[in-house]
Amino acid sequence: MSDINTALAQRLERAQAEMARQGVDYLFVTPSSDLVYMLGYPAHSSERLTLLGVPQAGRAFVVAPRLEAVRLDERRDIVDVHAWEETDNPAALVASLVGDAIGKTIAVSDQTWSVFLLRLQRAMSGADWLPGGDIIGALRVIKDDAEIAALREAARRTDIAWTRFVESTRLSGLTEQQAGAELARFMAEEGLPEPGFMIVGSGPGSASPHHMTGERVIQQGDSVVFDFGSTWEHYYSDMTRTVYVGEPSEEYRKVYETVLQANAAAKAAVRPGATCESIDRAARDVIEAAGYGEYFIHRLGHGLGLDVHEEPYMVSGNTTELKPGMVFSDEPGIYIPGKFGVRIEDILVCTEDGYESLNNAPRDLTVMD
Ligand code: ZN
Ligand code: ZN
Ligand code: ZN
Repeated sequence: MSDINTALAQRLERAQAEMARQGVDYLFVTPSSDLVYMLGYPAHSSERLTLLGVPQAGRAFVVAPRLEAVRLDERRDIVDVHAWEETDNPAALVASLVGDAIGKTIAVSDQTWSVFLLRLQRAMSGADWLPGGDIIGALRVIKDDAEIAALREAARRTDIAWTRFVESTRLSGLTEQQAGAELARFMAEEGLPEPGFMIVGSGPGSASPHHMTGERVIQQGDSVVFDFGSTWEHYYSDMTRTVYVGEPSEEYRKVYETVLQANAAAKAAVRPGATCESIDRAARDVIEAAGYGEYFIHRLGHGLGLDVHEEPYMVSGNTTELKPGMVFSDEPGIYIPGKFGVRIEDILVCTEDGYESLNNAPRDLTVMD
């Protein structure tokens, strides 16, 4: 068996163990990051149904349109592939493979189109339906070594692109969009294709965490927030750095230093058994102590993997305990409306005895022309 099939077979087994634990008879997964995770198959969502069906015990199947089924040949070691013809009813095919559905509990991946779910429900009336995120999320939240390697590589290349951008770019006079395009060019040169996302917020726009990158011209006296990421082997990078154009004021230096200390305090709190909310709290305490608590207007961080935002969330009220292999962002910020904002974001992995920061590009206050 190929290495990838061996890894996928282990994921299928872990899913089955979780299904047994939760009393789920079948798991259906359609094109989405969940299907990439379970089947290593980045299929596009379309009006033609593709579906992975995992029974609680025994062999999984895939139902796929004939014209795409050939792409699944390399998965025949681990799943049975059932191709359907243009005139077939794929929901009926799924129902025939499941057999008697009455009383069965079927979990369906969270991003399945409702049109498919409705057809499946009609074809298998009498079953109980659950969100598949409860099963797949429990697996995806703990990254295995291959996943961490991909995330590490995505972050490493993002760090290099950022460092090259800082060393060679004159910001003042560029629009936010031009600055973003320039950074994207360095990302592409480091092998990271079209950025998955690119936020450039300058001047007053830096005080808006999800600012829409626009036509504003960057000028002397601007704080500029760059929040950007792309994928390596389907796994995301996500980094934020904030730079200053010109000579920073005393107030700006204090805010920047506070955010940097909050970023470090969160890291110092990461270890197995620490709750997600305690990581948010560690950063928030630093910002509140400096008198800027009301300006830290979002949670500290989010999980990262095949999706940019996924479990676990570093937010007040989340008492989930960290485990080795969890990957998430540490992104405190201070946003003073109408003036400026500062955010510093790194991706962290919880390890056996603390954390590893996947991003290591310099974090000290950086002045650009
Ligand atoms: Zn965000
Ligand atoms: Zn980000
Ligand atoms: Zn983020």
